[in-house]
Amino acid sequence: MNCLAAGKCGGCKWLHMSYEEQLKKKEKTLRELCGRFGKWESMIGAKEAYHYRNKVHAVFGEDRRHNIISGIYEENTHHIVPVDSCLLENEKADAIIVTVRNMMKSFRLRPYNEDSGYGLVRHVLVRTGFHSGEIMVVLVLTSPILPSKNNFIKALLKEHPEITTIVLNVNDRITSMVLGEKEKVLYGKGYIEDTLCGKVFRISSRSFYQVNPMQTEKLYGKALEYAALTGKETVLDAYCGTGTIGIIASGHAKEVMGVELNRAAVRDAKINAKSNYIKNITFYERDAGEFMMQLAEQKARVDVVLMDPPRAGSDEAFLSSAVKLKPQKIVYISCNPKTLARDLGYLTKKGYRMTRGVGVDMFPWTSSIEAVVCLKLISEGQTSQHRNHICKK
Ligand code: SAH
Repeated sequence: MNCLAAGKCGGCKWLHMSYEEQLKKKEKTLRELCGRFGKWESMIGAKEAYHYRNKVHAVFGEDRRHNIISGIYEENTHHIVPVDSCLLENEKADAIIVTVRNMMKSFRLRPYNEDSGYGLVRHVLVRTGFHSGEIMVVLVLTSPILPSKNNFIKALLKEHPEITTIVLNVNDRITSMVLGEKEKVLYGKGYIEDTLCGKVFRISSRSFYQVNPMQTEKLYGKALEYAALTGKETVLDAYCGTGTIGIIASGHAKEVMGVELNRAAVRDAKINAKSNYIKNITFYERDAGEFMMQLAEQKARVDVVLMDPPRAGSDEAFLSSAVKLKPQKIVYISCNPKTLARDLGYLTKKGYRMTRGVGVDMFPWTSSIEAVVCLKLISEGQTSQHRNHICKK
């Protein structure tokens, strides 16, 4: 496969490899780092290895001849690599970004210039709903005023009637952050919705939402299969983001608690629970480690912990409290096999046994690896048997 920006944008580092080779390489890495803890199933590949990204972002600027360009920052620089279509990104989203760029000339809208600080259009972000087909366009501007706003919206919708909402985000600061704080809805409801494992989720400009929807369903499906809930359990969804995993699990559990540090994510999680008519879930805006320590102090009952920490993995506070709480099962979703190996090392020394694990390829053509692992509490009797077994080895 060819891409004009290959080697410059830093996205598809593995473009030179076949998809089968990529899966093998990822599986090998997982087995090398985490194979000693337990059995690994074969990696779950993507049916659609292209155009899977539901979130597409383009930065706007100009070339030496002052032509407007849009694309991706060259890795570790602020130099823009022009990109009109990307092998990973949703194709409609890419087309919308090109349309916005082409419209800018006739509407006399200038791209933002980082050096001079002049210009209006900084970025365009497009988010798409895989099942719903809804599309949100976020225009990130240096000012809350878009000249000829109504005509601009009309013209954009004429080209792309599939757009369901348009948002103006104001970013007037010198920052490498894409989105600013202030927002104005120009058209539609200001957010999109999508379905994941049968539940509906609201996605706004800033919400965290997994970028590969098809593979996310497989990942969450595996997490639920490993959790094997019967409807009687108290479940903790730790590092829950917008509550996706907990909400999907709630129909199979007695009660679910979700804990998440990010305020906006917790707000979205509460909205998501409400719109799915879920009554047995509560979200806490807290540090997961502190929350776990408190649960351990209170000797709370938690049967299953579902955890999905960021790349840095979990921390001592969380893991040491988890082993005190003694949930029967811990289902660990990880986006970094190195920190997964470290945390599995801890848990398997403190009374847990890894029963199964599997890699789910969420990011074809890149080296990123996602995995889910099931750990079970070794009961007291079993612990000594297990120790004997280890000693005999
Ligand atoms: N489970 C969610 C989100 C996973 S991303 C999903 O699949 O969509 C990891 C999440 O952990 C992020 O939302 C981040 O805000 C949160 N996080 C990071 N550090 C945390 C901490 N110390 N305590 C609680 N949440 C944390």
